[in-house]
Amino acid sequence: MKMHINFKLITTGLLVSSFYMANAQQKAKPEDTEVWDPIPKVVAPGKSTLDAPSDAIVLFDGKNLNEWVTTEDRNKPAEWTVSGGILTVKKSAGNIETKRSFKNYQLHIEWRIPANISGTGQGRGNSGIFLASIGKGDAGYELQVLDSYNNKTYVNGMAGSIYKQFVPLANPARKPGEWQSYDVMWSAPEFNSDGSLQTPAKVTVLFNGVLVQNNTILKGPTLYIGAPSYQQHGAAPIKLQAHGDPSEPISYRNIWIREL
Ligand code: MG
Repeated sequence: MKMHINFKLITTGLLVSSFYMANAQQKAKPEDTEVWDPIPKVVAPGKSTLDAPSDAIVLFDGKNLNEWVTTEDRNKPAEWTVSGGILTVKKSAGNIETKRSFKNYQLHIEWRIPANISGTGQGRGNSGIFLASIGKGDAGYELQVLDSYNNKTYVNGMAGSIYKQFVPLANPARKPGEWQSYDVMWSAPEFNSDGSLQTPAKVTVLFNGVLVQNNTILKGPTLYIGAPSYQQHGAAPIKLQAHGDPSEPISYRNIWIREL
C-alpha cells in the first residue's frame, strides 16, 4: 500500500517537472545567445597571409633600419646590412633590437639560411629572435633560428625551439637558400607589484605554417647554462641575434607586428 502511494507521488513529480522543462525550452530563443557588440575593428588583410595587414607596425620593409637600434648601445643605429630588400646579420655590429617596446603581440618574420652554409650543430646558421629583449647581449626569451634541414643538434636548440626550454612539435625546415617564416603569438609575462611572477610568458609559433609551439608556457628568459627563472620587466623590444658562430650570415625580411 505504502509503495503504491510513493509510486503515484513520483509519477506526478516527474510529469510536473517535465512540463516546466519543456516550457522553459520553448521560451529560450536563438537570439538569447547572440552577441552583437562590441563589433571587432575592421582590419584590411595583406595581399597574402605573408603581407602586413592594415593595422600592423612594419618593422622592416626592405628599405632601412629606422625601427631598429644596436642592443649594446640603444643610442646607436642598428648597423646590419640592408641590400636588395633584405636585412643581413653583421656579426661585428652585435645584436639589434626594435626602438619600440611591446607586450602582447602577433609577429611575422621571414629568415633565410645562406645556400652555402657551412659548419655543424649550433654553429650552422645560428641566429635567433628574442621575443622580449630584457637587457644587453642575449638577455631575453629566444626563439631559435638555425639550419635544421639536415643538421643534428640537441632538439631543444633546433629551429622552432624555445632555446634550451621547449622542443618544436615538428621540423618543417626548408633547405638552406630558401626563405622560411615564423608567425608568433606572444603573451608577455605579468608580474605583481612586489616583483613576483603573476603569469608566465606564453607563446604559439607557426614555422613555415606548421605549428611548432602550442601555447607553450615559458620557464623564464633563455639561459645558456642552468635553470631559467623570471625577473620582473615591462614591455620590451624584439631583438635579433648576431650569433658568434663562424658560418655565413643569416638574412631577414618582411618583419611586421600587430599589438594585441
Ligand atoms: Mg640562436
